[in-house]
Formats: sequence, structure tokens, C-alpha cells
Amino acid sequence: MLYSTIYFLSNNPIIHTSIIHMGQQFQLLPESPPYIAIPPHEPHVMYIGCCDARYNESCLDLSRGETFKLNTIANSINVNDPAAMSSLEYAVLYLNVKKITIVGHNDCGGIKACLYNDYNNLPKNLKCHLKELNTLCQDYNKMKFSTIDPIKLISIQNIKLQIDKLNSIDFIQSAIEKQKLVLSGMIYNLDTNILEHII
Ligand SMILES: [Zn+2]
Repeated sequence: MLYSTIYFLSNNPIIHTSIIHMGQQFQLLPESPPYIAIPPHEPHVMYIGCCDARYNESCLDLSRGETFKLNTIANSINVNDPAAMSSLEYAVLYLNVKKITIVGHNDCGGIKACLYNDYNNLPKNLKCHLKELNTLCQDYNKMKFSTIDPIKLISIQNIKLQIDKLNSIDFIQSAIEKQKLVLSGMIYNLDTNILEHII
């Protein structure tokens, strides 16, 4: 049980060949490759994705150390959320990332909850976080417009909304004006593994 728990927590054989727990050393993987030095922390891209467990920043196909990341429910930014805002401040003002990319995805649970009217039953923090997304979904429902994949359509609209929001943040605006920063939006298809450029 202990071995499997440690194995679970240390699922990176490159870094962790053993772990010390309560004074005892445990070998994690007998076949672990030798330790490889980590690169300096100088990412040039900030990735903002959904918390969905089925994809992550590796969809950008960049190497270790190149991507600074932030995951939020439905890849949405709330300017009153200190966790999200401090990540943005650190990325732009200290790490000087050159690009911020919002990466949404198809089959997003956050969008489904809003689109299919589960929003009012959500607990308070989820409800607060998804308020603007819910407005997008309700606008879509009012239009009576039908598309094969409404979740993808709303995901694209949400990515554009988040880009607009980033554009309105003073230190981001300033970095863009100085041509030090570019914003982009992409959507990742969980079924095909294809990353589509939106904006
Ligand atoms: Zn999602």
C-alpha cells in the first residue's frame, strides 16, 4: 500500500528514483533512468487550459521548461481571483513570457453544465467562476440556433471572451503595446488530438 502510494505520488521516474518516507528509503522504479538536470525556469509561453484531466499543456508540443501553466475550470479567468491573477502577474512581469495562449477543448464539463441548465444547482464558487460562461450559454439557448457541436462553438466563444479579458488587464495591455507579448487562443480536440488555432 505504501509502495503504491509513493509510486503514485512520484510518477516521474526521471527525477525520483527513490523517496524517503518516515526515515526509510524506498526505491520507486528499479529500472529508473539516471537523474537528468532540470533546465532553468525560463518559460516563454504561458498556457491557460481547463482543469479537464484528458489534456494538458503537452498538447502544445513544447519541451520541459518552456511552458508556464495555469489550469482553471473551463479555462476561464476571473480578474477577482488572486490565484489566477498572481499567475498572470508572475508570468508577464517576472518571467517575461512572450506568448499567452488560452487552450479550450471540446466536451467541456463546465460548458455542458451551463448549456444544459445545471448552472443554478452548482455550488457557490463554481457558480461564481462560471457566471460569464453561463451568460454565453444562455445567449446561445435563446438564439434557438442549432449546430452539430454547440459545446465546441461555445468553447470558441469563451476562448475569445477570455482573450478580450486578458487584453483589458493593465500590465498585459502594457506588455502588448511594447510588443513584448502576444495573445492567442486554441481549441484542443480530445478525440483527434488536433489543436486548432482560433485567434
Ligand atoms: Zn473543460
